[in-house]
This record gives sequence, structure tokens and C-alpha cells, in this order.
Amino acid sequence: MPHHPVPLTEVPSSAALLLSLSQFLQGTRYSGTLQSLLTRRPNMEQDSPEAVFTAILDAMRSNNDRDSLTGLLNTAALEERLISALAFAGRHGSKVVLLTIGILDFRDLRDSLGRKKGDWLLQWLAQQLRAVVRKEDFLARDQNDFILGMVVSKVEDVAHIVGKLKEIFSRPVPNLTESITVSLMIGASIFPNDGNNVDDLLIKSQTAMRRSPGNCQYQFFSDEMQRGAKDRMQMVQEMRDGLERGEFAVYYQPKIDLLTGTILGFEALVRWIHPEKGMVSPAIFIPLAEESGLILPLGLFVLKTACTQLKLWHNMGYMHLHMAVNMASQQLQDDSIVRAVEEILANTKLFPDRLELEITESSAMVDIDKTIQLLASLRQRGIQIAVDDFGTGYSSLSYLKRFPITTLKVDQSFVRDLPGDMDSLEIVNAIIAMGRSLGFKTVAEGVETFEQEAVLRTAGCHAVQGFLYSKPIPAQDITPLLGKSYR
Ligand code: C2E
Ligand code: MG
Ligand code: MG
Repeated sequence: MPHHPVPLTEVPSSAALLLSLSQFLQGTRYSGTLQSLLTRRPNMEQDSPEAVFTAILDAMRSNNDRDSLTGLLNTAALEERLISALAFAGRHGSKVVLLTIGILDFRDLRDSLGRKKGDWLLQWLAQQLRAVVRKEDFLARDQNDFILGMVVSKVEDVAHIVGKLKEIFSRPVPNLTESITVSLMIGASIFPNDGNNVDDLLIKSQTAMRRSPGNCQYQFFSDEMQRGAKDRMQMVQEMRDGLERGEFAVYYQPKIDLLTGTILGFEALVRWIHPEKGMVSPAIFIPLAEESGLILPLGLFVLKTACTQLKLWHNMGYMHLHMAVNMASQQLQDDSIVRAVEEILANTKLFPDRLELEITESSAMVDIDKTIQLLASLRQRGIQIAVDDFGTGYSSLSYLKRFPITTLKVDQSFVRDLPGDMDSLEIVNAIIAMGRSLGFKTVAEGVETFEQEAVLRTAGCHAVQGFLYSKPIPAQDITPLLGKSYR
């Protein structure tokens, strides 16, 4: 019988190849390699079998750098990379932050879950960590702890990562029959403040971690040098907790119609009523909230609270009242704001034209085209747009005309020196005249005297807001003022 070469079995599909390789590698020191490759390239099945094979081979070859369970860097590789990171940071005047992240009571947890689930938990944690770090950061596993190395320009950048971790780890671990939430301990050391060699920094970061109470609360190793940054970060953390605990409140400041002398609406101003420090000024915490990204949930809270409150006043018969809410620039970079606003309006059943969003010139300038587009879609829905602190930025007429705005708020720095200061007087007159000619409503902020009010009235300003009429106060103190005349 002639001997025909039998074709080798067909080249397997990529999916089949992956399946058989994962069975083959199971239990070997390469099982983590494959797993981490799959998390990095979840659609690998769609690559050609050759590409899959090459990728796996490459990953196995670089396995010497990797921890087999999680696919993260191992400690030897971490140390090597940190040495060059420290050298780089030293040359560029940047900082390196080393976070040691551990699970509170992990040993007990593993004893109760069993080793297999314990390992799985570490793998899951590694995956979550990998998802929040930037690709230029180093992430390594050191036994039951994780080490994250980051080159940063300012220490506060860390707050952002920790914020994201806190969000992820507040939810129970998925896919476990037991319902557990992991409590993370986080310790931080900083180059060059805490040391200038890798060993020193690693030890200090671990020491700091042991002092962390868990629950994603971070602990710095360092001393006075970091106090400023540390205080700020701790404040961000306190704010985050405070938001959950309901420590934030919205106060309202009336705006008075200069023609009728009655309240035409309010500006919502957020307040932090800190359990120990008392009332903290937004001038202090808003910049921090912006820096840490907390402004998004905080801004949403203000928006919801203010709209709900306005609806209550509408229901009492004061249908004409409107509400102005301040928007931070980050909120304007986030497309989801349009949907969020729509949803709040739908839930509260408010007319969209009773809501006014206040933006500042500088926040509108962050990404002009994007902002214009976003404001336009809010305008289309009937929402009013005010430019806050007008006159302090760089707005020119031509620039203003591009923005779909409805209201100009004359900054209080011009109002303050009225009527004596001629420069202020001219600026205020010009802003109001210009605003009127463009069809905007004009509101003057920071009105404290009747003389100021008189000048503004003569200039043709539509509305005024200031301590002369009322400070920002809680809603229950506003209610008795609703029918009041301020003439
Ligand atoms: P703003 O939006 O320009 O608010 C006006 C500020 O002037 C308020 O300060 C108000 O209390 C104060 N003010 C009102 N009338 C007078 C007056 O007659 N004299 C003087 N001297 N001051 C007056 P506040 O409440 O401390 O807020 C400061 C800034 O913090 C606000 O300036 C706004 O930029 C920001 N902010 C407040 N709440 C929020 C918020 O919910 N979200 C955002 N993104 N920013 C907010
Ligand atoms: Mg404002
Ligand atoms: Mg203002």
C-alpha cells in the first residue's frame, strides 16, 4: 500500500489553542503568565493561531520578571525598575511614591476561605489594581502585599488612585460564595523625602502600611516635610467620607429682581459642615475636590439637592423661581453631565428653563469647542447658562458670542469698590451695557450697600445678589422670605 503522508491534524482554532494551552500550563509556574496575558488581551481568540502562539511564548520567556500567581512584576524586577525610576525622578525633580497595599487580616481570611480561594482573591486584587494604575506605573506582588511605584509631579496625584481603589473595594468581591469585602491597608513612602534608595523606601512604605487602619485609608511614612500634602490628602479622604455621611449641605442665596424688588431665584452654594472643624469654606475644599475628582459626585449632589428644593418651593406656588448651580470645569468635560441633568429634571419635574448652570470663563476655556458643544446641547433643552465672575477672565466679545449663554454675572470685585472707584464704575457700566445689547440677563454679585444697588440700577442691571439682601442660608430659613419685597 502506497504510503501517503497523512496530513497533520488541522491547525487548531485560536480558541481551541488557548483552551488546550491553559490546560497544559495549569499548575505549572506559567499558569499566571497565561492568565495575565488573557487579562491584558481579552480578545486574543480573535487573533490568528500563530499570533496567539507567539504571544504566549513571549510571555513565558519574560516570565522571569513576573510573579507566577498574578502576572505582576516580582520583587526582583520591581527593584530593578525602581532604581532607574529613582534616577529619572532625581534628574527631573519629580517624586516617586511607593504604595504598599495589603488586605487587612488576609491570613485569617485565607484560613477561612482556603488556599485556593485565597490565591484567587490575590489574583482578583491584582487585576483590579492593574485596571486603575497608569501604564507607566510599576505594580508588583510581594507575598500577600502589592507594591505600586509611581513617578509623579505632585504627591496629591496619589489621592486620585486611592479614590478609585476605594470605590472598587467598597463592593463585595464577585464570584465568591462567601460575601466578603476586602479592606485595604495602604502605606506610602516618597522619594526623595523619605529616602533615596529602594530598600529604604520599600521598608518605610511597609511600615506605614502596618499603621493604616484599613478601609483604603492611607498612611504616610513621612514627617513634617509632607505635612502639607498629607493634610490635603487627608482632607480629600475626609471629604469623601463626609459626602457619604451627609456632612455636605446646600445653602441658598436669593437673587433680587431690581425692577420689582422680589426674589426671582437663588444661587445654590455648597457647605461642608465638618463634625469637628465646623463650617469649612468652599474656597478651601472646592479646589481640593476638583483636584481629586470628587467634584463630580459632589457637584451631582448639589444639583440634585438644589433641584429637589426648588421643586418644593414651586409646589408652594412660587413657580417663577429659578435655581443657579455652579459647575466646575471637570463637570463640563464630562459628557454624562447632560444626561445627569436631564434625569434630575425629569425626576423633579422641573421646567428646564428654571435651572441655570454657572460656569466661569476659565473653566469654559479648558476645551472651548467641547464646552460650546456641551453647553449647546444643554441650551437646546432649555437650560440657562450663566458666566460667573465675569470680567475677571479673558473673555472678549467675539469669544463670548460663540458660547450659547444667557446670563452674565458681574464679579464682586468690581461691585465692591462702587460707587467711589471710577475704574470699577466704568467696567460695571460697560459689562452691563454690553450684556444687555447681546441680549443677556445681567446679575451683580456681592452687593452690600444701597449705594452699590443704586449704581447698578442706573446701569440697567437686571438682578442683584449679596449680603445686603441675604447671606447664603439653609432652605428652611429661605422659605419665610419667599413673598418678601426688598424695596
Ligand atoms: P461664586 O459662585 O462666585 O459664589 C459667590 C460667593 O460670594 C459665595 O461664596 C457667596 O457666599 C459670596 N457672597 C455672596 N454675597 C456676598 C457679599 O455681599 N459680599 C461678599 N463678600 N461675599 C458674598 P461661597 O459660598 O464661599 O462660595 C465661594 C465659591 O465657591 C463660589 O463662588 C463658587 O465658585 C464655589 N462654589 C460654591 N458652591 C459650589 C458648588 O456647589 N459647586 C462648585 N463647582 N463650586 C461651588
Ligand atoms: Mg456662582
Ligand atoms: Mg461669582
